[in-house]
Amino acid sequence: MDEAILDLLKILKAEALALEPSEKEREEARTKVVAYTERFLNQIDELKAYQTTDYKSKGLLEHPISNTPAPIESLLSLLENFVDTPGINSASGGHLGYIPGGGLYYSALGDYLAAVFNRYAGVNFSAPGAVQMEKVVLQWMASLIDFPSSFGGNLTSGTSIASLIAFVTAREAKSLTSKDYHRSVVYLSDLAHHSQEKALKIAGLGDAVKRHIPIDDHFRMIPEALEDAVKKDLEVGLKPWLVVATIGTTDTGSIDPLEELAAISAQYDLWYHVDAAYGGFFILTETGRNLMKGIEKADSVVLDPHKGLSVPFGLGAVLVRDQAEMVRAHQFEANYMQDAKVVADVSPAEVSPELSKHFRALRLWLPLMVHGVEPFRQNLEEKLLLAQYFQAKIKSIPHFEVGPDPDLSITIFRYVPDAGDANEFNQRLVKAIHEDGRVFLSSTVLDGKFTLRMAIVSFRTHLETIDLALEVIQQCVQKLLSEERLIENE
Ligand SMILES: *Cc1c(COP(=O)(O)O)cnc(C)c1O
Repeated sequence: MDEAILDLLKILKAEALALEPSEKEREEARTKVVAYTERFLNQIDELKAYQTTDYKSKGLLEHPISNTPAPIESLLSLLENFVDTPGINSASGGHLGYIPGGGLYYSALGDYLAAVFNRYAGVNFSAPGAVQMEKVVLQWMASLIDFPSSFGGNLTSGTSIASLIAFVTAREAKSLTSKDYHRSVVYLSDLAHHSQEKALKIAGLGDAVKRHIPIDDHFRMIPEALEDAVKKDLEVGLKPWLVVATIGTTDTGSIDPLEELAAISAQYDLWYHVDAAYGGFFILTETGRNLMKGIEKADSVVLDPHKGLSVPFGLGAVLVRDQAEMVRAHQFEANYMQDAKVVADVSPAEVSPELSKHFRALRLWLPLMVHGVEPFRQNLEEKLLLAQYFQAKIKSIPHFEVGPDPDLSITIFRYVPDAGDANEFNQRLVKAIHEDGRVFLSSTVLDGKFTLRMAIVSFRTHLETIDLALEVIQQCVQKLLSEERLIENE
């Protein structure tokens, strides 16, 4: 061996060792990181739920990646200034917009453990324990929705990818080929989440016919309208293929009539998909369980632990009634994977588009095992009750118009001023609430009406948070009204 090469290898090793901090360096860095997170968690109740962004600074863009090592404390201050302060504080209980989650501490510890041990969670042969843990949490979810033991599942980054897996499975299960795509029909309500059509498009089914089935005054899909549409499509030679029902629409939290839709799907041999991203885990509660009768008849169900179970963002799940269908749609073989084939069990990589994958199960398994299921159930019961509390309170304030009683924990409301355009007023109202920042709310448009939403999901949201939200909303209305009076008097 050439001496020069051996010398060079010594030098390179010495340099590369910078990537392995010593025990003392690890302790120093860890202490600083933990101190930073502790400071955040100890003041979480006082922090704003929304911080408007200061676009005068270019933020992190002024600190490009370079060859100069930086001390961890300076990087933590970059995080604090430019990442952990601006925008929505998703960890805050005051986050009541879109669909919040919160972010459980034991999930953070689970991610830490997963990253240190770095088990390769995509393949059974490589990490049998990690794969088994994924199975354990999926089995728990399958038992919640009364799925048969033939079920298959996968932990994904969220419902968007979970739905992609479901639709690719449905496509193969119903033997659609590209020649069928343009005459295959998908049925969904206007309130179906946009991720569903996006997943269809990514699955190659962008040309499929989409039928938007009308909803009733509780924002639930009308089963008779679905059946009519299917019959008409059959008459004209189209191929009815997929029904997408929603448990907890994003706009209003409404739940589609699952039993009726299941019966129609069965009668016409349609794949029955249920998007339970936000609402699914409310099945832990008694109210939810009653409202979700029929979910067990689905062919595929998608759920987001990063919503109803308050796991930090990046965890969704897909469950398919028959695992064999998932495998048929996703399984591949390769010569360089031959050693991994010794295990007969299905690996996550065989039922999803991913090969290498983050060990996601741990961020859910750890909190479920540490706390037990009961606090999760109580937390969701509390969210349902808080939604009713808010609905009753806001309804009693003059000028506020509310939607129907909430199915789950989202309520909708708007302020109707004596004079002027209500849409424009509510648009300004949501902006004023954002500028205030003590709580964060988001809005939608229903039937042409600009409407505010109150989405109560986070485990950090309690009665005090809702009272604060009521105070903020009323103060913002008063501020807008007094501004209008000033303008009138000018
Ligand atoms: C959040 C949500 C989605 C999208 O899920 P991601 O996890 O953000 O990909 C889909 N459907 C519904 C009803 C949702 O609430």
